[in-house]
Amino acid sequence: GNENSGRNPLILPEYACQRATCLKHFNHKFTKALEILQKHAELRDNERDSSRALAFRRASCVLKSLPFPLTSMSQLKNLTNIGDHCKRVIQEILEDGECREVNELQDDWFQKMVVFTNIFGIGSATAKKWIEKGWSTIKEAQEGYISSDWRVRWGLAFHTDLNTPVNLQEAQYIQQIVRKEAETILPGIILQITGGFRRGKEEGHDVDILMTHPEEGKEVGLLARLLQRLQNKGIILCGNLEKSTYSDEMLTLDSKLSAKGQLDHFEKWLGIIKIPHSCSENPAMDYSGSLSIISSCVHKGTGCSVDNSTCCTASEQPLNYQPLNLDESLDLESKAKKQKLGTENEISPMELAKLDRNWIARRVDLIVSPYDQYFYALVGWTGNKQFNRDIRTYAQRELGMKLSSHGLYDLNKNCALPARSEKEVFQNMKLQYIEPWERNC
Ligand code: ATP
Ligand code: MN
Ligand code: MN
Repeated sequence: GNENSGRNPLILPEYACQRATCLKHFNHKFTKALEILQKHAELRDNERDSSRALAFRRASCVLKSLPFPLTSMSQLKNLTNIGDHCKRVIQEILEDGECREVNELQDDWFQKMVVFTNIFGIGSATAKKWIEKGWSTIKEAQEGYISSDWRVRWGLAFHTDLNTPVNLQEAQYIQQIVRKEAETILPGIILQITGGFRRGKEEGHDVDILMTHPEEGKEVGLLARLLQRLQNKGIILCGNLEKSTYSDEMLTLDSKLSAKGQLDHFEKWLGIIKIPHSCSENPAMDYSGSLSIISSCVHKGTGCSVDNSTCCTASEQPLNYQPLNLDESLDLESKAKKQKLGTENEISPMELAKLDRNWIARRVDLIVSPYDQYFYALVGWTGNKQFNRDIRTYAQRELGMKLSSHGLYDLNKNCALPARSEKEVFQNMKLQYIEPWERNC
C-alpha cells in the first residue's frame, strides 16, 4: 500500500536538479519502457542529441522522482515533461502491464544496433552500415571490419572483456593503482572516482577518475608522467591523451561550440588498461608482480596507418607520453625488458585477446582539472549525463548563468562564480544540495 498516491496531484519541481532522482525508485516498469523508446530514437535519428530521445528521457526522469508507484493517470496531472506520446505509453502499461509499441520496437534491428553501438568507438552510423551489410554478430564485425581507429580495433578485439561490467571492487583496485603512481609523481594530489560509481552504481562500463592538486599549476604535466609510469608497469593496453584546450573564454561562450563535440576542455586520457582477473576477489592484495609478468609481451595494433594522433598502443607510440624525467631506475629497467623481448613478440589486439591470460581489459577515463575548476569538474564528471543537461539548462534559463565543467559564469554581472566545494556549486545556483546518488536521472 502507499499513502502518497492518495495525496495527488503531486507537484514536483520542474528541473531534475531541484529534486532527488535515485537508482532505486517506484516506477521501473514505466521508466524502462520510456528508456527503450529513448534508446530507439537515439539509434534511429542520426543526431548527437535527438530531441525525441530527450523528451522520452525527461519523462522517465520525472517518474524516477515520484515518491510512490504510479497507479492512475490522474497522478500525472500537474507534472511537466510528460508529453502525449509518453502518456499513451504509461496508460497502456497501467492497463495491460506492457506497451505494444515498446515491445515491437525491440526487433532484430534494434537488438543488433544495441550490440554494435556497445562496442568502444562504434556509433550508430557505423552500426547501421554493418547491418546493411547483413552482419548481425560481433564475430562478423571482428572478422570483416578493418578500422584505422584504435578504439575500434581494441574495442572489437576485447569486446567480451569490455562488455562484462566493471564492478566496484575492480574500480577501487584501479583507483588504488592510479593513486599510488600519481602520489609518487605529485604528493598531495587529490583523486576521486566520479561517474556512475560515485552515484552509487555497483557496476559500470568504465572507471572515471578525476584528479587535481590544491596548489595551482602543480597538476600540469602530471597525466603524461602518470601514463608513462603505468605504461612502464605494463598496465596500459591502448589509449589517447588529449591535451587541454581550455582558455578563459570557454567560461562565457556557448558550451556546444567545440568542434569535436567534446563536452569539456580538460586534459584527459581515454583508454583501456588490464587488471588481474582475481582482483575483485581480493582487492586489497597487491598484484603488481603478477601484472608485470603478464605484461611482458609488447602489443601491436592492426591496420593502423592513417590517424597517428589517435593511435597509441604500447608499441605503436611507446614515447607518446613524454616529456619525462622521472624515476630513472624503474623506467630504464622496464624499457630494457621491452627491448630485449623485441619485435617478434608483437601481436595484434585480437591475438592478444585470445591468449590464455589472467587479466581482463577495462575502460578507464583519467581527467585532470586545475584546482579552481575542480568542483565544477566534479559535478560534470559525476553526471549523470541527463543531470548535467538539466542543471545547465536550469542555470541558463532560470539564472542567466552559464554552467560547464570549468565553472559558472553570471552573464548579467559578467563575472565568474568560484566554488571551493561541491556544495558551493549548488549554492551559487541557488539550488538545494543534491547528493551524488540523487543524480541518477
Ligand atoms: P557508466 O557507469 O556506464 O560508466 P557513467 O555515468 O559513469 O556510466 P560515463 O560515460 O563514464 O557514464 O560518464 C561519466 C560522466 O562524465 C557523465 O555524466 C558525462 O556527463 C561525463 N562525461 C563523459 N564523457 C565525457 C567527456 N568526453 N567530456 C566531458 N564529460 C564527459
Ligand atoms: Mn563511467
Ligand atoms: Mn567515462
